[in-house]
Amino acid sequence: MNNQDLNREGYFGEFGGSFVPPELQEVLSYLNDQFQTYKDDPAFKEELAYYLRDYVGRQSPLTYAERLSEAWGGPKIYLKREDLNHTGAHKINNAIGQILLAKRMGAKRIIAETGAGQHGVATATACAMFNMECVIYMGIEDTRRQSLNVFRMELLGATVVPVDKGQGRLKDAVDEALGDLVRNYKNTFYLLGSAVGPHPFPTMVKHFQAIISEESKRQIIEREGRLPDAVVACMGGGSNAIGSFAHYIDEPSVRLIGVEPDQAPTLTQGVPGTLHGFKCLVLLDEEGQPRKTYSIAAGLDYPGIGPEHSYLKVTGRAEYATVTNEEVLEAFQELSRTEGIIPALESAHAIAYAKKLVPTMGREHIIIVNLSGRGDKDVEQVYQMLQQ
Ligand SMILES: *Cc1c(COP(=O)(O)O)cnc(C)c1O
Repeated sequence: MNNQDLNREGYFGEFGGSFVPPELQEVLSYLNDQFQTYKDDPAFKEELAYYLRDYVGRQSPLTYAERLSEAWGGPKIYLKREDLNHTGAHKINNAIGQILLAKRMGAKRIIAETGAGQHGVATATACAMFNMECVIYMGIEDTRRQSLNVFRMELLGATVVPVDKGQGRLKDAVDEALGDLVRNYKNTFYLLGSAVGPHPFPTMVKHFQAIISEESKRQIIEREGRLPDAVVACMGGGSNAIGSFAHYIDEPSVRLIGVEPDQAPTLTQGVPGTLHGFKCLVLLDEEGQPRKTYSIAAGLDYPGIGPEHSYLKVTGRAEYATVTNEEVLEAFQELSRTEGIIPALESAHAIAYAKKLVPTMGREHIIIVNLSGRGDKDVEQVYQMLQQ
């Protein structure tokens, strides 16, 4: 990315920024100072590398999906295996990074919001390991639909606070968490789960997820002696995608492709707007309110998108596409059958789109698909859907 595009701190072109009340702005400015101080500090980096290796299990493999590539009859498909991380997805990379920062800042208490529960579980895991008090805000409707994830968080020692305001969904949980932060900022750290929210969160989350493409770039060069032709990732808030794009953004030969559910096509159909304290492309209904989205993958159900993706979209550096539920379900089964890997439904969106890309590319080409998580959590839901 060009520096002149980042004309103001926390902005990606016109997107990003921080649109919050003054008392929250003070807390966020302090957080940014601390992040800038520690992110390049050698002792901090060493500690982060230690936990990523010995707790998360990094580096994650870059697996050549030989049978899948043959079955599709086109480019070589490589899978970046974030599904093999401890807790089974990429979210732990960010949770560990932010909790180490929280420790340096002297925080005693971690708070987080969660919708489907996956970020809540990653946060509760990291808090258990670092012996931090953990409070997770979750819309009351979500706690009912995701009762097993509530139990997981409680097993890990977290307190789950059901939020009975508004519609009892993710947005209301975010509001409660922000209110808690303003009241308790002296001892509390808000651990945000995706590359969204007011500055510095999108920048910070990208920093901690960029390990994905740092590794994959090294791995593909070792293996193939060259860069991939395309990198494909699914899009919820955009954290696994920005992490798997990060080290290729300045490599114009590499196509970057984000994949959304066709019922939450934020980047495909969104317009500039402000949501949860930052500017991004957002899906609006006819009254100008955030549109109701839906996805069979709970982790992709969000009406906004990270500001940097909004910028990569309008500048044309990255492409964004959608897939249907049928295509996702087919990809879920096909990867399981051909490679012995059951993907998360979220990740199956990326697989499904890679399949559509194959006929447009040659056998000499290389595609890296980011496998953001494993599918154990989704097996029962897919079973139910396939019965219908
Ligand atoms: C949460 C989640 C996502 C979506 O979140 P992003 O911030 O867009 O990466 C994707 N895949 C899995 C497995 C998830 O748990």
